[in-house]
Amino acid sequence: MPIDPTQPYDDQNIFAKILRGEIPAKKVFEDEHALAFHDIAPQAPHHILVIPKGAYVSWDDFSARASDAEIAGFIRAVGKVAREAGFVEPGYRLLANTGLHAGQEVPHLHVHIFAGQPLGPMLA
Ligand code: IMP
Repeated sequence: MPIDPTQPYDDQNIFAKILRGEIPAKKVFEDEHALAFHDIAPQAPHHILVIPKGAYVSWDDFSARASDAEIAGFIRAVGKVAREAGFVEPGYRLLANTGLHAGQEVPHLHVHIFAGQPLGPMLA
């Protein structure tokens, strides 16, 4: 079910539980600002999610409320994950579903990284 992007942060969401170590994830990167792990239902040969450590519902929430240090740290982490995974050549796609029309399902900001094949004009 897509989430209501205006809702307050729910600390029982699944990515909050992954951050607290309450449920497992196949982690690929972690630093003070971000955690990256494999998507449980990959939509491309490589499909990684990167989430900020802070409690932000969506890209909109994050870009409005996060500190400059959190934003810079998170964006650098997304780039580092893709670089270290070897995705820069031949390329990768970033996606951050935000709100109802985008079909965002988990109410903790996550950036999808897709790679490993020609991705076409758009992933549904
Ligand atoms: P959204 O539609 O942009 O909110 O994407 C949510 C993503 O989270 C989907 O691609 C799901 O497959 C993924 N997902 C949901 N639960 C888990 C989990 O426990 N581990 C890893 N990925 C998950």
